[in-house]
Amino acid sequence: MDRELEGSLREKACSVRLGIIDALGIGNRGHLGGSMSSADIVAVLYFYKMRHSPERKDDPNRDRFIMSKGHAVLAQYAALAEAGYFDRSVLATTKSLGSLLQGHPERTTPGIEANTGSLGQGLSVGVGMALAGKADGLDYHVYVIVGDGELAEGQLWEATMAASHYALDNLTVIVDMNGIQAMGKTRDRYTIGNIPGRFAAFGWKTFEIDGHDITDIVETLDKAAAVRGCPTAIIARTVKGRGVDFAENKHAYHNNLLTVEEREKAVASVMAASAK
Ligand SMILES: [Mg+2]
Repeated sequence: MDRELEGSLREKACSVRLGIIDALGIGNRGHLGGSMSSADIVAVLYFYKMRHSPERKDDPNRDRFIMSKGHAVLAQYAALAEAGYFDRSVLATTKSLGSLLQGHPERTTPGIEANTGSLGQGLSVGVGMALAGKADGLDYHVYVIVGDGELAEGQLWEATMAASHYALDNLTVIVDMNGIQAMGKTRDRYTIGNIPGRFAAFGWKTFEIDGHDITDIVETLDKAAAVRGCPTAIIARTVKGRGVDFAENKHAYHNNLLTVEEREKAVASVMAASAK
């Protein structure tokens, strides 16, 4: 992969992580862990793969992105601010009364395509959008990020079945497989087992990647977009809290606050990780 492109995407991912910290603020509970684990994927989608523009938000040909694990929307807010959908200063108002940016995605926010947060539903919305694209003869692509804890939701597998039935090759789901959900390790809640095997059994083409390796993300999204005749699933191995060293792999940071001191440490950690 082109080193200049990789470097610029790493910078975007760093900017997304700093934006997550801005959106979280100080002393407010918020979803740091799952936002950080999806930050590299979100950065590559918004700044490499997807056709989109804040000047043409209603362009019928725009690619669609749905954060089905809606609590991780802080990563999407940071990317939308970076892309110019609203001013970066708005991030600091996240979750305050009347703010453009609430705790879960709402379509009233520029650039948000679907209200999510009730887990397991985002992929169904994505299936509908992908079907509409086929019906309208448009060539846009729909991307949906789901969490690994979210895979326990039955509706998600109904959507998975429908997507292959309708041969939705304009639909890609990315599983942010950080191994942790709100209350602890995912494997202690449900035995999800062979995730790629499950999607493959439903007729999907599957890929497995390191969800923090920019080159891996770029190349696999390109491969997924080129698949014809079936939907695609990218199973991304990630680290919850990635980039904020004291929060990594800790379910306590699924939904937690940062103190003034922790915020400084978080920013320093993200900057240091990005310089490596
Ligand atoms: Mg998880």
